[in-house]
Parts: sequence; structure tokens; C-alpha cells
Amino acid sequence: MPQTLKCQPPASHYIDGAYVEDASGEALDVIFPATGEVIARLHAATPAIIDKALAAATRAQRDWAKLSGTERGRILRRAADIMRDRNHELSVLETHDTGKPLQETLVADATSGADALEYFGGLAGSLTGEHIPLPGGDFAYTVREPLGVCVGLGAWNYPTQIACWKGAPAMACGNAMVFKPSETTPLSALKVAEILTEAGAPAGLYNVVQGWGPVGAALVNDPRVAKVSLTGSVPTGKKVYAAAASHMKHVTMELGGKSPLIIFDDANLEDAVGGAILGNFYSSGQVCSNGTRVFVQKGIKEAFIQRLCERLGDAVIGDPLDEATSFGPLVSQSQLDIVTGYIDKGQQEGARLVYGGKRLNRDGFYLEPTVFADVTDDMTIAREEIFGPVLSVLDFEDEAEVIARANDTEFGLAAGVFTNDLTRAHRVIGQIEAGSCYINTYNLAPVEAPFGGVKASGVGRENSKNAINHYSELRSVYVAMNPVEAPF
Ligand code: NDP
Repeated sequence: MPQTLKCQPPASHYIDGAYVEDASGEALDVIFPATGEVIARLHAATPAIIDKALAAATRAQRDWAKLSGTERGRILRRAADIMRDRNHELSVLETHDTGKPLQETLVADATSGADALEYFGGLAGSLTGEHIPLPGGDFAYTVREPLGVCVGLGAWNYPTQIACWKGAPAMACGNAMVFKPSETTPLSALKVAEILTEAGAPAGLYNVVQGWGPVGAALVNDPRVAKVSLTGSVPTGKKVYAAAASHMKHVTMELGGKSPLIIFDDANLEDAVGGAILGNFYSSGQVCSNGTRVFVQKGIKEAFIQRLCERLGDAVIGDPLDEATSFGPLVSQSQLDIVTGYIDKGQQEGARLVYGGKRLNRDGFYLEPTVFADVTDDMTIAREEIFGPVLSVLDFEDEAEVIARANDTEFGLAAGVFTNDLTRAHRVIGQIEAGSCYINTYNLAPVEAPFGGVKASGVGRENSKNAINHYSELRSVYVAMNPVEAPF
């Protein structure tokens, strides 16, 4: 039996406004990444649980869509307030779920989820169509309508945030949601569902079911589902996109990346190093938009590497529940194995290890922050998403060269440029193939700005007013004010 069950939720799933169990589902152990201990035991959803969740969502959605946007928004904003009031408790849970330091989760997870609920709650009352004047007094009008039941599929790096980034715009537009967290981090989304109920959301509006890929696939393929929003890897994205396409469903795909961070000689060195740290080591490097290919112009390269290594020496690696800790473990043994495999590969292929690279001699899935220099474009560590704390420094000489090299990838999620030359900053960022771009900073994702990728990194955008387009569709109505002219 597990040694501690202090994170054990009342049951595995949250359906129709209440916790629900079906112990015949496959057992799913939740592991605290800092110790390797089992902290909760859940069960994957059975077909009966999946059916129950979809039936509840289908029913709830019909009534929810009849409310005014202002009424819907009021409930979402109330949920945001509850999340903020409970930020500490939710952050402790998120830290247990993911292993991310409390120092981070206190400011980046429930708070970011609350931002989404507040922002989309605020927008809900203003979602309207438009009036379109036409010749002869005819006109058309548009009505913005919900899609129906939306399915959210989450990755394990930001379980609370992902549950809200998908749920908030969906509910604001009048949809219901069935959310499946990653089986690695199943706890936090249950709290989001609980809080929504407490805030007044009708039973069945936001449901959480647990399980592995097949549970996600069953949801995606169900005819009751109108839209699928996935945060995950590119291979999973391709599968989910294909399954959704076979039913002509709407999709949003937030997938992986291998994003370029370009640092010119004239950049502010401290800011550039700070950006590289934010873009490679926050959440132990498990962030999709990370700028893991750090292109550094030759004139500043040695100073950059030296200062980066000095500042990495200030990282406090330890118990993620201690607020002094600034760098925690990876999420799982399997993720640790994947990342150490890439570190071995980097060394075998001739990259120069200048910092870290080793596992820590302690329980849990700890790895040192790691920096490679002299990385070339063809090396595996420069081409594949590692999803761990591994930064690669690549040298470059001039602007045209770095733009071409930065774009030479299947991915296109994010990109950053550090320079004090105003026109160069805009010129370069304008030519990089990426959806979420930064000038003189990195990896900020305010709810007001669209977030998402181009090329293999995704389809559609989360956050911002733009997300509304991905959770609603327009009906247009032509109104004739004149006799009908027919040819015969
Ligand atoms: P996965 O792609 O493995 O899984 C994502 C989710 O999809 C999980 O809930 C998973 O369940 C589920 N799933 C897997 N197979 C199927 C299927 N056939 N049908 C339906 N659902 C399925 O991603 P990870 O959880 O490993 O997360 C890491 C990846 O996520 C990285 O590549 C990263 O870049 C990306 N990511 C992207 C972000 C973005 O916004 N662009 C943000 C964060 C992460 P299960 O876990 O049980 O397999």
C-alpha cells in the first residue's frame, strides 16, 4: 500500500457535480516526483464512466447555453476568486502533482488558471454577433453560438493551468467540458471542477475523467463531442487531429517545440542570461515554449556562457515544498530517463558539456540544470524536443544566417530575440516562423495575449479574445426586405 495518501481525492473522477468512483478501472498511482512515493491511488475511467461524463456534459450544456453571457461570466469570475483565495492550498497540491517548486506554483499555476477564468468570465457578456447591411435594405446578422461538448486533453507540466485555459473559454462561450488530465498529474484538475461547482456552475458543466491515451481516444471519437483541445506532444497531436478530422470536429492543438532564442552581441547580458534561464530551467525545463536552441552571436558568446553558469550556481535545488527551492525534480522516472538519454547523446555527438549533466544523488527524479556549448544544427539535442533542463548554445555570425537556421525546424511554437537595436528586433522577430514571440524577454504567457504555435507545433490559439473563435461558431442569417427575384 502507498506510504502516504495525503493527496488522495475522494474519488478518481468528477462527473455531474460530484466525485465518482469505478474501482474496476485500471489502477493509477500518483507519484510525488521529489521522493518517488505514491501519494494517491486512482482508477482510469471505464467505458461506463466515460459515458456518464459525456451524458452529463451533453445535458448540462443545453441549459448553460440558455443563460446570458453575463450570468455565465459571473460564475467563472466567482470561481477565479475562490481559486485566488485558495492559492496556497492549490499550489501545494500542484507541487505534489508535478514536483514543481512551490516558489513557482504559488505564482504560476492556480493564479494563471484564475486569470483565465476571470478574463473569459469578463468577456462572456460581450460575445455577440454583428449586423451586416446589404443592398436594397436587405441585411444579414450573425449569431455566435457554442459548439456543444468540448473535450480537453492535458499534458503533465501545467495541470491546473491547462484545465482552466481550456475550460474557461469553452464555458464562457456556452459549451460544457469533459477534461482528461495526463495520468501523470491527475489531481489538480479535480480541484478545478470542485471549485467551479462551488462557484455555482451547474452539475455536469465541467467534468474530469482519468486515464491513459485510450480514454482520451474514446472521448475524441465519441459522436457527442464537438471539439477537442489537446496540449501534448506532436506525435499525440497528429493522432488526435486525425481522429477528430474523421468526424470533422473542431480542434485546438498546443504541441511541442524546439524554439530559438537569439542573442545578439549588443544585448543586455544580464537580461539575455535571465531570459535564457526563464526559457530553459523554469519548471525544470518542462515547458513547451522553451527557447532551447540558444543562438549566441560570437562576440558575446563566452561572456554569456560564463555568466549563465555563474547564475545557475545560484539555483537552489531541493525539496519543492520548501519555498526557498528554485529548481525541483523532473515529473517522472520516465521523463528523467528520456532527458538523461539526450544528455548522453549530446556528449556522444560532440557537444561540449559546460554545466551540470548529472542526476542528483537523492530520492526523486532530480537532474542538474545542464548547458551544452558548441552545439551544431545537425545534433540530436538541437533538433528534437527534450522537455527537460537542457540548454544548447549555438554560435552565429550574422542576422540572415541566424534567421535561416532558427527556421530550419519542423516546429514553430515560440521564439525570442535579445538586442538593443530596435529595428533589428522587429525585423528579426517578424521573419521567424513561430506563433508566440518575445523581444528582450522570454516565456511570459499573459491571458490577454494569444498563445500557440505554427507548423508542427499546433493549430489554433489559446488565451486572448482569439480563443473565442476556437470555442464558438457563427450562424449567419440573411434577411430579405424585398420581393424574391427568381429566374422563372
Ligand atoms: P502527450 O502527448 O503524451 O499526452 C497529452 C495528453 O493526450 C495526455 O493526457 C495523454 O494521455 C493524451 N493522449 C495520448 N494519446 C492519446 C490519444 N491517442 N488520443 C487522445 N488522447 C491521447 O504529452 P505529455 O503529457 O507527455 O506532455 C508533454 C508534451 O506536451 C511535450 O511534447 C510538450 O511540448 C507538450 N506541451 C505543449 C504545450 C503547448 O501549449 N504547446 C504546453 C505543455 C506541453 P496519457 O498521458 O495518458 O498518454
